[in-house]
Amino acid sequence: MKSLSCRDIGFDCDYTVKAENDTELFNKGGRHVFNTHGLREEHFIPKFNEKIKSEI
Ligand SMILES: [Zn+2]
Repeated sequence: MKSLSCRDIGFDCDYTVKAENDTELFNKGGRHVFNTHGLREEHFIPKFNEKIKSEI
């Protein structure tokens, strides 16, 4: 299980996404940050790759 929280990528937001793999995590987390925070994909991708957490 992997997780990413909005705080990890710099937002003051309690949203946390959990998923089975990177792709699912990106899709779920991306939808939230794009819609809620107006973050653009090209800005999210480097943060995502840096902050993604693996919880095995
Ligand atoms: Zn958020």
